[in-house]
Order: sequence, then C-alpha cells, then structure tokens
Amino acid sequence: MTANATRVLVLNSGSSSVKYQLLDMADGSRLAVGLVERIGETISRLAHTPLATGGAKREREEPFADHAAALNAVAAELAADGLGLDSPELAAIGHRVVHGGKQFTEPTVITDEVLAEIERLIPVAPLHNPANVTGIRTAQALRPDLPQVAVFDTAFHTTMPEAAARYAIDVETADAHRIRRYGFHGTSHAYVSRETAKLLGKDPSEVNVIVLHLGNGASASAVRGGKCVDTSMGLTPLEGLVMGTRSGDTDPAVIFHLARTAGMSVDEIDSLLNKKSGLIGLCGDNDMREIRRRIDEGDEQAALAFDIYVHRLKKYIGAYYAVLGKVDAVAFTAGVGENAAPVREAAVAGLEELGLAVDAGLNGIRSDAARLISPESARVAVAVVPTDEELEIATQTYALVSS
Ligand code: ADP
Repeated sequence: MTANATRVLVLNSGSSSVKYQLLDMADGSRLAVGLVERIGETISRLAHTPLATGGAKREREEPFADHAAALNAVAAELAADGLGLDSPELAAIGHRVVHGGKQFTEPTVITDEVLAEIERLIPVAPLHNPANVTGIRTAQALRPDLPQVAVFDTAFHTTMPEAAARYAIDVETADAHRIRRYGFHGTSHAYVSRETAKLLGKDPSEVNVIVLHLGNGASASAVRGGKCVDTSMGLTPLEGLVMGTRSGDTDPAVIFHLARTAGMSVDEIDSLLNKKSGLIGLCGDNDMREIRRRIDEGDEQAALAFDIYVHRLKKYIGAYYAVLGKVDAVAFTAGVGENAAPVREAAVAGLEELGLAVDAGLNGIRSDAARLISPESARVAVAVVPTDEELEIATQTYALVSS
C-alpha cells in the first residue's frame, strides 16, 4: 500500500444488487455512491453519484448478466470520474458480510481460507452469504493485488455471554447445527453505541447503551461499556422486534400449527414470517410514513399495527434495562428511529420511573445530526443517532490495512 492510499471502496452485495460507496479515509468524505439493482434480469439499473466532482447522479439501464458485469460497469463509472479502481490511492475494498458465525469476531483480511469459511456458513445464512461470496470473488478478479476485507454483521455481537447467546434447546442438536443467537446489524450497533458515548462526552467503556436500530429490518442491542451483551435478532434476522415485513418474536409452535392445520410448507411459512408479516402483514403497509398518514386519517388497522410495533419495542427497552442494570442512554437509529418522532415518543412513554422521558419539543426537531431528545433533568439520555454502516465498514477496513 502506498503512503497516499487512503481510499476505501465499500461493497454491499445482495443476491440481485450491489450498493457501493467510495470513501477517502483521510477525512472520511464520500467520493462516490451508487447502486446496481436487478442484476441478472432483462433490464438492470445502475445509479451513480460522483460526489467528489459535484456531478449529477447518472443512471444507466441495461442488462447486467451477473455481479461481474455489474461491478465492471461500476468500475467504468468510477474511472470516468477519475476515481478508477486501478488508482494507487485505493487502499482496500471492504465487504459487508452478513454472517461470520462464532469465529469471526473482528474485520478480517480475506484469504482463500477465510473465503472458504464464509462459504461454510452458508447453511446458517442461505439468503445472504452466497451473494457476499459472489461480491468478494468478483472484486478479487477486478483487483487481485488489493487487500479485501470482510466486515461481519455478526462480529459486534460475538461478545454476548453464553447465557444470552444460547437457546434453551438440546445442546447436542444445537451445536451440531450451529444453532445459537448470532445477532445482525452489528456494524450499526457498534457505530451508534460509540457515537452515543461521544454525544455524552464519555468514552464507550464508561457507558451502557440500549441501541434501537429501526429500519425496514429492526433490532435492539444492550451494550455494556462498548461491548454487546444481548441483541434481539438470533440465528437469523427473524427474531425480536416487529419489522417492516418480519414478524419478530412469535411462539415457535405457530410454525407447527400452520404446517399441521393449514398444510403450509416450510418455504411458505418462511416466506409468511419473513416477507408478509410485521407491519405489512398487520396493515398492508411497511413504510412508517404511510402508517402515520393512515393513523392521522383515523385508520384503525394502521393504529393497531403501530401499537403492536411500539409494544414490542417497549418490552425490549425494559428487558435490556434489566440486562444492563444501569442505563446511560437509549439511542434510536435507522430510517424509522431517525425520522419517526411518534415512534420514539410512544416507545418511551410511561417509563418515567425508569428515568426515561422524551422532550416533545426536542423530539419534534428534524435534523441529520446526533442529538439528545430527553429533558435536561432526565436520568437516562434518550438520543437520535444517525447510523452510517458504510463509514463504519470503511473505517474498520482502513484500520486493518493501514496498521
Ligand atoms: P433498511 O436499511 O433496513 O432498508 P432504512 O434504515 O433505510 O431501512 O429504513 C427504511 C424505513 O424507514 C422505511 O421503510 C420507513 O418505514 C422508515 N422511514 C424513512 N423515512 C421516514 C420518515 N421520514 N418518517 C417515518 N419513517 C421513515
């Protein structure tokens, strides 16, 4: 790596999409951002914004047969802005990898052995890890000489004690099939818990934080002194909070019941709980903006969906309060957490005895900055802390290759 190699390309590869950002770690600035969608379909779409040049967003619609074709097109767009992947300023490529199992506790430089291990985790992450592996192989082919780093969604949660990480099911069966609670969104929980400490003017080691990552997928975590001690997602991202399309916690017997009495197959139940449940299953909408609009118009189904969402959230705040014993801050993040003031207000309502409250004025202010929304007198800080998973992946990647 040359001394002035400070750029990191962050790749988030899905089964038919690639999101990317090119960052300059000299100052954390974004040079370009973009997205390729519908890879493998008759028409794919590439949207590229060259932030470094101040240029307008460019969009292309053409068929990209596979991830290699998509990434080659991204490389061409970057090159057109003078940001080509052959530049000596590019230090590394950082890949978001969803599942790192128990073994990947840190960002890791990708070797053949590491890639084989990520592939061995496919049975526990069948929806995500195959696409991540494809993205890595494609990027390696493009720049074989460049360090590629895997940053795992699960890594931040590997500090969970066994009491939190194990399900109370037969140990031999669980171990044979690697069934345990891994947690996801770890990059966001790590970033937001650190930023929350910063907002309080403290070192992460000095504070206990409950992080509520409320996007389309949603998860909570309990972070003690900078280390995760519990999180709401489990073996897969299905467990925990009510989400846009996922049920979150249910009695596992719902599955047997549906199989036995409704004659549904495993795949049908999987799809029901992951794609047709949560907010969309409850009221037909998964966008919180739309749900709030319907509530304002007096829609009772939307109001009930909102109440179920908030009830679950409140239960997790209470649970993690108990897990931590002492809480310094509750931090809301991601699309819903950063934008939906009514969700924040309702989740904290009635918890004054726990030292938790929201100031209506502060909660109503719209801002992109990390900020406190609790009254000055509150014992526990309530904060809105925008997440930035790409910056965190780039930071971790750069720290590893420049050390
Ligand atoms: P993900 O990364 O999981 O796709 P995001 O963190 O981008 O999700 O969150 C997307 C969700 O955020 C949307 O589905 C919507 O419910 C919610 N959201 C976005 N903007 C707003 C807003 N202004 N008010 C309320 N909810 C919003």
